[in-house]
Amino acid sequence: MFQNNFIKNEVEKIKEELIEIRRRIHENPELSMEEYETSDFIVKKLKEFGLENIEKIGKTGVVALIEGKGERCIGIRADIDALPLSENTKLPFASKKEKVCHACGHDIHITCLLGVAKILNENKDKILGKVKLIFQPAEETGVGAKYMIENKALENPVPEVIFGLHCWPNVEAGKVYHRHGEMSAASDTFKIIIEGKQGHAAHPYKAVDPIMIAGNIIVGIQNIISREVSPLESGVITISTIHGGEVINVIPKTVEIQGSIRTLSNEIREYVHKRLEEVACGIAETYRGKAIVQINKKTPNVVNEEKISNLIEKACKDILGEENYIYNPVPSMGSEDFAYYLQKIPGAMFRLGCGYKDKENYPLHSDMFNANEECITTGVISLLAIVNKLYEE
Ligand SMILES: [Zn+2]
Ligand SMILES: [Zn+2]
Repeated sequence: MFQNNFIKNEVEKIKEELIEIRRRIHENPELSMEEYETSDFIVKKLKEFGLENIEKIGKTGVVALIEGKGERCIGIRADIDALPLSENTKLPFASKKEKVCHACGHDIHITCLLGVAKILNENKDKILGKVKLIFQPAEETGVGAKYMIENKALENPVPEVIFGLHCWPNVEAGKVYHRHGEMSAASDTFKIIIEGKQGHAAHPYKAVDPIMIAGNIIVGIQNIISREVSPLESGVITISTIHGGEVINVIPKTVEIQGSIRTLSNEIREYVHKRLEEVACGIAETYRGKAIVQINKKTPNVVNEEKISNLIEKACKDILGEENYIYNPVPSMGSEDFAYYLQKIPGAMFRLGCGYKDKENYPLHSDMFNANEECITTGVISLLAIVNKLYEE
């Protein structure tokens, strides 16, 4: 379809324009499911670039279709929301808003996909099929991908494959960071309500102390990870809130614990859920109390589909050079709602290096996170190269 040099030249021509777009989005971040101005801006830009088939999905999602010559269809996804944090970078184009900023680089993702839109649309007569551009809200709250699917973003036409990128500050701009197989963990939450019997602090034998039970449960459930999950598999249980008691000389009636479970495989996911309930309830009963365990299944894990994952490797090595393709040896215990698309169609994600060589690189979700804009051209080039390779297959 396209020669590598053609792709690189086309992207280089619009580099300044893309940086301007990125800064405009960066200054005006919006929270999950509130991306009204962002989605209007995306639609405006797509129209400016000459796209005709643009559709708003639900409140703040956007899908655009570029129609080339064939019937095949490929999907590319960019998430568009920001985080409830006040930006601290002091950049001239830092967020204009208190407590909202693009600390996860989704401004870069939008920009890359807009760059792809412009170049593909100008060259649509050369594309051997259709390309569906999916601008998705609310990745940070884990509900956006599901919302897009429920609102038929993957229908008419159904993409045969979907892929996307995510910024990665630990790798320098100009490079991509990729792995096959498991990419990110399933993320579930839990709540344990421990019921005891209220009583006087001086007479615990007449009460059932839920705080003491909570202490044993906290220790007990960590044994699931350390003693029951193979050290070569991965699982995390984190207790992030605990509430109980109000009066210094009173044993309270209940304690409530909440936390997060991260797992990389379905097998371990189901196992940890089952054992968390058994261990918590068993300990509570042992000490004469009762535990009620609620587990909320949230985002599934992302497992890159082999064929498209290999193709991403090939396309990126081919256009960026072998030295700019870095293999990522380990999956992340973080989560990504891209997983929901993978329940419908095959796909894969890769990471886009957005770090600086000689500056401190703050992590994603830090109020100091500052993506190196040089990554934008690499992002557009790699996305285009992947579309190209997919259609050459
Ligand atoms: Zn994030
Ligand atoms: Zn993100």
